[in-house]
Amino acid sequence: MDAAGDRDWLDGGAEVTRAHVTRLFDLAARDPAANDVVDRAAAALAGGSRDRLAGLFRRCAPEVDASGEAGKTYLRWQSALVSKDHASLLAGAPSAELSAKVRELAAGSALRVEVEDHPDYVVVRRAETPAICLVAPLPVAAAYEAMIHELVHASARRSTDLGPDPASFADERAYLMAVVLSPGDEVDAYVTASGARARLDGTTKHLIPALISSFDTTGRLTKPRDAVAEIILAPRPRGLGYADAGLRGSYARDKDDLARLRASRREFLGKLARAKQQELSALDANVGVARHNLAARRTNLGIARQRGDAAEITKLTRQISADERALVELERTVAVVREGVVRLTAEQARAR
Ligand SMILES: [Zn+2]
Repeated sequence: MDAAGDRDWLDGGAEVTRAHVTRLFDLAARDPAANDVVDRAAAALAGGSRDRLAGLFRRCAPEVDASGEAGKTYLRWQSALVSKDHASLLAGAPSAELSAKVRELAAGSALRVEVEDHPDYVVVRRAETPAICLVAPLPVAAAYEAMIHELVHASARRSTDLGPDPASFADERAYLMAVVLSPGDEVDAYVTASGARARLDGTTKHLIPALISSFDTTGRLTKPRDAVAEIILAPRPRGLGYADAGLRGSYARDKDDLARLRASRREFLGKLARAKQQELSALDANVGVARHNLAARRTNLGIARQRGDAAEITKLTRQISADERALVELERTVAVVREGVVRLTAEQARAR
């Protein structure tokens, strides 16, 4: 990189414009791997438009400038649970009503919507379009590296409840290793961005000092990914200090968040099971009434036959076959609701 790489990427300005970010994208265009990162981010976050992708970048708030990081990605997920109606349960496919509910939740500024199917309900997760900030002042080459790093995070990160489960790790260290090694997390971001930076400079000497020995001058990683994860977590200056800084307390926090999420899921399952149980009592009563009416019509049919009342026989025969079809449908609904109660009760017990 020539001396231009040392210039402040905002040219001393205070605001991030699309032109500033586009200049960083143009640097990436010279490096197929880095260009790929920009392309993938544009596809995932901006409908394929680099200009719209550039519009997602902001200048970082002072607290990020003070953190020692060169950028930050703000990505928010929301999730909602939607119970399935009878029509969806009977058909084994979403009814028009369920589809409309899911569409309603997906509407608005959602960038990505994922629908997770369960036998009795669906989980709808929606991601808002992320905001990405880069620090200023920062040399162009460092801003380029930070831009690649944040785009890796922004394109790949998933809802936290789908990440590693803190309760399944022996200790905080093991959990943090799994977190930074997750797709789109710190190992991916540092490996991708350091590689791009080494290729931009034609040397590794401007990389973050703790990472220099992990790359060759072509930006290729020369160590296992686990070793990079260790470096990211290790205290400064040997490492990047994430276990003491950015990820400090996240083990306990993520455990609490997940426990809260599970408690609300349990509550939803319990409510749904109780509602279905009540529905079952009403449906059972309806089945009783339907059977009683059917028996009465059959008796009447017998009488009509004795009388030889042809019109009455035709009318009752038609009514009886309609009643029989309705009863079959009602009994299927009862069976489906009853199965749901059993499943939900079992799932609620497992979710402890
Ligand atoms: Zn990061």
